Amino acid sequence: MSGDTPDGSGNGTRVVRAGRRPEWTQGIVSAPVWRASTILYESVAHLRASAAKDTHHRLFYGRRGTPTQWSLADALTELEPGAEATFLYPSGVAAIAAALLAVLSPGDELLLVDSAYDPTRNLSNGLLKRMGITTRFYDPMIGAGIADLIGPNTRAVFLESPGSLTFEVQDIPAIAAAARARGVVTLLDNTWATPLRLPAMALGIDLSILACTKYVTGHSDTMLGSVTSTAEHWPALRDTSFQLGQTVSPDDAWLGSRGLRTMALRLDRHAESALTIARWLKTRSEVAAVLHPALADCPGSEYFHRDFTGGAGLFAFELAGGGEAERAALIDTLDLFGIGYSWGGFESLALPVDPARYRTATRWNRGPLVRLNIGLEDPADLIADLERGFAAWAAAAR
Ligand SMILES: *Cc1c(COP(=O)(O)O)cnc(C)c1O
Repeated sequence: MSGDTPDGSGNGTRVVRAGRRPEWTQGIVSAPVWRASTILYESVAHLRASAAKDTHHRLFYGRRGTPTQWSLADALTELEPGAEATFLYPSGVAAIAAALLAVLSPGDELLLVDSAYDPTRNLSNGLLKRMGITTRFYDPMIGAGIADLIGPNTRAVFLESPGSLTFEVQDIPAIAAAARARGVVTLLDNTWATPLRLPAMALGIDLSILACTKYVTGHSDTMLGSVTSTAEHWPALRDTSFQLGQTVSPDDAWLGSRGLRTMALRLDRHAESALTIARWLKTRSEVAAVLHPALADCPGSEYFHRDFTGGAGLFAFELAGGGEAERAALIDTLDLFGIGYSWGGFESLALPVDPARYRTATRWNRGPLVRLNIGLEDPADLIADLERGFAAWAAAAR
């Protein structure tokens, strides 16, 4: 797996060191929580000199951050080879919205992957539509075929890989190359893989988005998002985000930095346990398919093996029959899996998912799906819990 290189470039080393500039930490191991709204200046001349447009990494006014936020933003930039800078947001959805608003204008067309996170679809069908931006949804498996959809008004292609409900892995380099050849911007929701598993910019992506709520914070206690940008798109992203008034509390940024230090370790464990459980599910007669990017059931798993340096803890499986009641019996019986939205925390979750109603460019006609967030519990305990769930599923079907 990833991060085992002995030269200091391994993931564990990278997340421990990232963003800890001495001028921000002042000798303390972790950048402390700097709370601020007003910043006091020494003189009018100092005030005037500080009012320059680009206040990146300079104390100016609380909304533009303090070393607490800069340290986390910088860490995320360091983890993404080819990146210029990162802007933080109060949620993943806020990050997606700012990134899209930074690149799109009225009259533009957005190509949005049909497997996208539902709130991303809602943004496109809601606010973006009201602004006169049209969205065309495309098949996640389109690959280089995206070129055929690019028209004179196409300004951006949005990818999410793997899809967070259905796990199709996209051919990111092919899509990015086709877009770049036509001057079209690419945005990737990289929440599942994080830059530790998928270096987005190295594959040709312009703007890489994370719901840091998930793996970066890692403890299901913080809402946080980020967009990491190439130099070309950074001014637009920064200016749009400033205009939108986006800012993150120093406490949340601090929790993000706190989580980041263990992210490589957690991801390795999440990935290993998830793969163990996915392989076990493959052997079960109750299961029709396991939608885990590393397994052949999952569309695009060849791209996973080609482009990703490791896995994560989120995947889904398709039940071999039954309906809503049987699926609910399975999930309700589980003790170690909570029932709840979001994922990427230390605790396991099970969720019934019904992607068919979100699709417009493609059809989804598989059986009942259950999405699992595999947490940091012992996989043998999780398997025993799932065994009990399957017994309840079978009993409900009788
Ligand atoms: C959760 C999630 C988001 C949104 O993040 P929030 O912090 O909950 O707003 C975006 N994309 C994906 C793939 C997600 O799973």
